[in-house]
Amino acid sequence: MPSQEQLQTILNDIDGRGYKAYKDLRDTYTFPTFTLHIDHVQGDPFAAPSRLRVRVPQENAAYPTSTFANKSRHIALCTYLATAFSQAAHHTGARRGSGKSGLIEIDTPGQQIIERTCIDITADHVEARFAVGLPAAGRRILGREACALLCEDVPAIVANALSYCNNDADLIRRYVESSEDADALRQQLADKNLVAFVAADSVLPRRSGVDDRPLDDGAIPFKTPPNLQVQFDLPNAGPVVGLGIPQGVTLIVGGGFHGKSTLLNALERGVYNHIPGDGRHLVITDPTAVKIRAEDGRRVVGVDISPFIKDLPYGRATDAFCTDNASGSTSQAANILEALEVGARALLIDEDTAATNFMIRDQRMQQLIAKDNEPITPLIDRVRQLWHQHGVSTVLVVGGSGDYFDVADTVIAMENYLPRDATSQAKEIAAALQTQRRAEGGDAFGPLTPRIPLPHSLDARKGRREVNIKTRGKRTVLFGEQTIDLSAVEQLVDPSQTRALAAALYYAREKYMDGQQSLAQVLHQVMQDIERDGLDVLDNRKMGDHALFRIFELAAALNRLRTLEVQQ
Ligand code: ADP
Ligand code: MG
Repeated sequence: MPSQEQLQTILNDIDGRGYKAYKDLRDTYTFPTFTLHIDHVQGDPFAAPSRLRVRVPQENAAYPTSTFANKSRHIALCTYLATAFSQAAHHTGARRGSGKSGLIEIDTPGQQIIERTCIDITADHVEARFAVGLPAAGRRILGREACALLCEDVPAIVANALSYCNNDADLIRRYVESSEDADALRQQLADKNLVAFVAADSVLPRRSGVDDRPLDDGAIPFKTPPNLQVQFDLPNAGPVVGLGIPQGVTLIVGGGFHGKSTLLNALERGVYNHIPGDGRHLVITDPTAVKIRAEDGRRVVGVDISPFIKDLPYGRATDAFCTDNASGSTSQAANILEALEVGARALLIDEDTAATNFMIRDQRMQQLIAKDNEPITPLIDRVRQLWHQHGVSTVLVVGGSGDYFDVADTVIAMENYLPRDATSQAKEIAAALQTQRRAEGGDAFGPLTPRIPLPHSLDARKGRREVNIKTRGKRTVLFGEQTIDLSAVEQLVDPSQTRALAAALYYAREKYMDGQQSLAQVLHQVMQDIERDGLDVLDNRKMGDHALFRIFELAAALNRLRTLEVQQ
């Protein structure tokens, strides 16, 4: 292996030459306290930056085993280190020429603690993967700048961010312990027949719709209604109390602007762990909970939505429903059945983003429009069947329809941002003011119909490229010539998840789609491969900007691919 001094010599030699001369840098170099791997060199100063890795042996990094002893701790420590590296890079990085010259960038975590490819830690070493803009003036190599970047900036960042003794040991402990607690709690939810838990004193509101950090002033901390209080014993925090949301059907009611959606949003995010100080690190939701909303305009292919929608005009079938332009109600029905197809055990629905005619049909409307002329069986008539027949719980925000009191197990009223148990009151009102609406759901939800995805319908080619898969932000995947719109997939929280799931679509097609296996089987196997071998199975180029997604978001992306074809 060439040494740091040899790297310096090469960089001095290529100073002033054309940018292509950088290509020869691909290699592994030994530095005094780590090795530097230059895996991919960019084609020009404006192209996507070069991909590098550093590996620091544990003799130098010196992380106590306890900080990464199990999966929860491991992921939390990696999240901490990615943040530390990012901050150090931000302080150290300098502009060193044109385009991206001088840039040092690592995949930076947001508020969630998610498995990422940018940092790995083992008993042997700590590895960081990051991107670097190799310096140039125009297209001419700036060798001395490159030398400063690779032989001064990078070692400084490595020293500051990756060695245990230069890090905040107390903060590391909080990361790993709180993440371990969160996972332990999530594992115990089902034993206590809960779909979610919100610890007392959690801070739910965020700074804004585009800023996921906690509201910094005037946030009212969460309080637990005594009737719904539960206690968990956690490995590090010990006993914690908070609101337990039972399995079954739960309503969140309350006046406008009283905090209903804020609570539901926190539950949506509760499928992830959060960093210390986020305010939601003990807001924990069933890992299979899926946010369901209306999404008119989306495509739907071969989904049996007949539990909700049947007998469309002109005899159009809905047991293998296809449309390029779904309505509010048909899209919401498809979103539910697709979530159930891959194993959702809890649905989260907010009236703000639901189709009214999907949620309820009241007595007067039932009188005006006979059931024979209404294809929709509203959710109110299915929500108990979902629970009884399929074991699927639903948490619904409804401020507008008291008819739902009849089908709810639990009613939580939000008042001035604080929850109150309104179950018995709602039941009394429902008994005193009997609804005149007729149930329309018959006695069964009916079976779920699996689908088989056809591999030829996932075509990643574009022009002369065999595989052209890209992403834009967290909301868009470009797959071959297709654009997949994920803007309604609200539990996708990080662009790195989108990059990884885009790779997973291709991996699923190549490895498991054979025209025989069902969509659920295919995607479950992909998730198992990742679980067993790590995210690198999706892409062998040692990418540093992939993060773990759930099967539900992967399925959501596949289901939104407009060329997808399936068989039932
Ligand atoms: P609803 O869905 O009931 O209409 P929202 O959940 O949208 O209400 O909340 C309305 C506003 O109140 C939002 O701007 C939100 O950030 C803020 N808010 C919610 N919960 C709290 C809280 N606990 N403390 C302070 N502000 C809050
Ligand atoms: Mg709301």
